[in-house]
Parts: sequence; structure tokens; C-alpha cells
Amino acid sequence: SHILVCTGTGCTSSNSLKIIEAFERELEAQGMAKEAQVVKTGCFGLCAMGPIVMIYPEGACYTKVTPADVPEIVSEHIVKGRIVQRLLHMESDEGGTATSLSETTFYKHQLRIALRNCGVINPENIDEYIGVDGYAALGRIVTEKIPPQQIIDEILASGLRGRGGAGFPTGRKWQFTHDAVSPDGVKFVCCNADEGDPGAFMDRSVLEGDPHSVIEAMAIAGYCIGAQQGYIYVRAEYPIAVKRLEIAIKQAKEYGLLGDNIFGSDFSFNLELRLGAGAFVCGEETALMTSIEGKRGEPHPRPPFPANKGLFQRPTLLNNVETYANITWILNNGADKFAAIGTPKSTGTKVFALGGKITNTGLVEIPMGTPLRTIIEDIGGGCPNGKKFKAAQTGGPSGGCIPASLIDTPMDYDSLGAIGSMMGSGGLIVMDEDNCMVDIAKFFLEFIVDESCGKCSVCRIGTKRLLGLLTKITEGKGTLEDLDTIEELCYHLKSSALCGLGQTAPNPVLSTLKHFRDEYVAHVVEKR
Ligand code: SF4
Repeated sequence: SHILVCTGTGCTSSNSLKIIEAFERELEAQGMAKEAQVVKTGCFGLCAMGPIVMIYPEGACYTKVTPADVPEIVSEHIVKGRIVQRLLHMESDEGGTATSLSETTFYKHQLRIALRNCGVINPENIDEYIGVDGYAALGRIVTEKIPPQQIIDEILASGLRGRGGAGFPTGRKWQFTHDAVSPDGVKFVCCNADEGDPGAFMDRSVLEGDPHSVIEAMAIAGYCIGAQQGYIYVRAEYPIAVKRLEIAIKQAKEYGLLGDNIFGSDFSFNLELRLGAGAFVCGEETALMTSIEGKRGEPHPRPPFPANKGLFQRPTLLNNVETYANITWILNNGADKFAAIGTPKSTGTKVFALGGKITNTGLVEIPMGTPLRTIIEDIGGGCPNGKKFKAAQTGGPSGGCIPASLIDTPMDYDSLGAIGSMMGSGGLIVMDEDNCMVDIAKFFLEFIVDESCGKCSVCRIGTKRLLGLLTKITEGKGTLEDLDTIEELCYHLKSSALCGLGQTAPNPVLSTLKHFRDEYVAHVVEKR
């Protein structure tokens, strides 16, 4: 048997390492140490039900496991082959209780591409990644000397768009950086792993569960654009992700998959980590590169765009973790197959971190274009305690809300933009009938006020003025004129702020004002 135990941040914080110790002890004690192997994996996605233990070949998915449950799992399941029914808690799509993950309503509507190896392999063992075709794409490309343009064309044909939030076509970014001329031939590949939105943990889970998929994709990107050096800018607040990346980079170097003459070819590529110190603005591309250069992480105006003058003034390709996690799947399975998933303008899948007032809190990956209703009602299991779904916030402090009346909106870039929301990087926070939407807007604005770098006055002062007005309204001291001032301030911020942080800061306010204006008005009127 293989006993898979999630060691992502969620399950680790609910004691999964103690469960691993308990399994190792108990297998030994019951004489089953040779019959069963304990494997540490990344996240299965069912974070609310953790710690998760999955046992193969049966595929039994045990949830909310404690170390005290382990002796029974070993004596019943491992020794006698009998599934421990009391530890199965997930609802089956057919009704009743599901034994394996694939039977659950939670998984049935999902399609895992970026998360394909999370919960499947041990992220600290490169052999397991190689065992699922890892480094096959890189090996093929460098040993067969496939022309970079051919690979870029494949990425272009896939229709992949940047998963960090803006949705810019990835292939075009690769093309621009490939075409850019560097004064000394030096170019860079960067990975944005500075995931900072409240409620977002998609990238963390990819790095914790499948770090090599990002490393391999970055090496391929380096080959395509002519770079020999890459940097992963990762939050220092993600210690497990940092540790697994360090292990993965070390193992890849030992296997000759990073460093000089990869696969014996003439292509060399090195990779280093840079740890972010917790500034949300460093997720903005120009600030991120300035921070890697060792300076204060502040944005600067574009143009010049990073594809022409990025890190150390050289052409630089920057993609986020989830974008890279799609690359080798596309190259191994074909652009056509990827483009056939999702919608014509939003191909492939998107990972969402599902949180807030939702039964199945966790990580989900769905084909683009899946209606929000499917995520909330089927995958998410609805709001707990029979409460009514009120709205979902996509994209954290840069995103917008989707009210219950628009629950059938397809989750793709264009449909979300059309209703005044945005895809964002993938945080999806659910609100029920008890939530006050003015409070929600205020919460995100407070975050932005804290995180504004202060470089431009419209953001530094404007967001504070906006927060002051929202506070006045939530305290019942606001007027209807204040609502007009709020809207005016929002439009100034959108049009004049220097970087994306300031430009998108008004989105939660504007979208709640658009869909829940009555709640703002009620705060004003109630007090009179
Ligand atoms: Fe800094 Fe805000 Fe200006 Fe961006 S918009 S540069 S975060 S002050």
C-alpha cells in the first residue's frame, strides 16, 4: 500500500507531520513496515477537511484524521484490507459517502492541469516528478535542439494567458522577450511567487506540491528567450514552499537538469531564489524586479516594459507560478488539447482558492468558463448552516464582487470583466446573507492603505481619503454626497495611479457600489 499524507501548509498546520510519525511507528509495531510506504505529498485541495490521508491502491480518502486514528487505519485497512468508514466524510456525486476523491462532488467538476501532481507525488523527491514525465519536455527540447520559435508558437497556439491576474497572452510575452535585443546578450527569466492577496494560496500550493513543474518551465522559457539565469521571487512567509524549492533546485542541479550543459547540450540555465519581505506591492512586476536588484521594492512607470528593459535593465520574462505550471503540460500534451479546454478566449483551466462562507474551503481547478454556480453549489457545497449565498469576491483587493443574481456568470477573463469584476490571481472569497458588503469593501481598502508604497500621491493620499469616507459611512455618519465623492475618487485612482496596485484598488468599492448600492444607502439613511 501507499499511504499518502498531505504536507501542504493547511494539513501541516493541523498536525499532518504527527500523523506521518504515527504511521511510521504503527506500521513498525504491527509488522507492516515492508508492506506499506508513507509518502509526503502536496495539497489535495480539500483544505477544510484536513488532515487528509489517501491510501492506494484502493484510493480511500480519509479526512479529518488525527494521530489517534492511525492504529485503527493500520490494523483495519493496511492489515485486513477493510476501509475505515467512519473516516470518510466527503459527499459522493451519486449521493451518500464517497470512498475515493474521484467520486466526490468536490472533484467531479474539476480538471487538474496546474495541480496535476499536487497530492500525487512527493515534492521533495525528484525521482517522483521524473516518474510522471517530469523533465521530459526540457530533455526533448534541448537534446533535439528544437528551435525556440517552434516552442513559442506552441505556447501562442495554446492560448494560455497569464494566471497572475492580468490575463496577458503568455506566448506574446515570450515572443517579445525572445525578440528583444540585449546590449550584452544577457536576458533573465523570473517567476512571480509573491502571492499576497488576502485569501489566495494557489501558488503556494503549486510550489509546495510540485516545485519541479515551475523549475522545468522556467528552464524551457530560458531556452526560448535566450536567458541563462532565472530568479524565483517567493514570499518569505511561505516557509514550506521555500524549503521545497531549495530542495528541488538542489536536486535538479545534482541531476544535471539545471546548471551548465543541461542534458549534455550547449544550453545552460541557473536558478536562484529571492525571498520577498512581505510587501504586497512587490507582486507588481517592476517593483518585484527592483527588489531582486536589492533596492527598495517600488514600481516605476512603463514603458519601458520588462520584455525590453527589466531586471538589471535587460530583457526579462516574468510569469507567475500557475502560468509556468501549465507550460510542460502544454508541451507534453499539445497546444490543441489545451486550447480545446475552456472558452475560445480563455483556454485551459484556472485554480481558485475557495474561502470565506463556503462548506468546502480549499483549492479547486476548473475549466475556464465554468459557471460560478458550479463552484459555489457543487464543488463548494454551498454556504454553511443553510445560509443564502450573497456574493463572491474574485481577485482579492484588486478584484470585484459577483452578486448572487449573476451566479451563472462563466468564470473566464472576458465574462468577469464584463460584469465589473476580474479574474485576478484566483482568490475567491464567498459571502453569505450575514455579510455587510460595505464592510467587505472597507476590509480590502484597509489592506491597500497598509500596502500602498506611497510613491505616488494619488494612491498614497487617495486610498486614505477613500477609507476615511468608507469608515464614516460604516459608522453611520456618512451622507449621500459622500457616495458621489467616493465614486469620483475611485475614478481618479483608476486613471492616475502609477501602478496596478493603485489602479485596481477601487475595484472592490466600485463593484460593491454597483451591485449593493442599497447597503451603502442604508448605512447613510439608518442613522438619520
Ligand atoms: Fe505605490 Fe500606490 Fe503609486 Fe503603486 S499606485 S506606485 S503602490 S503609491
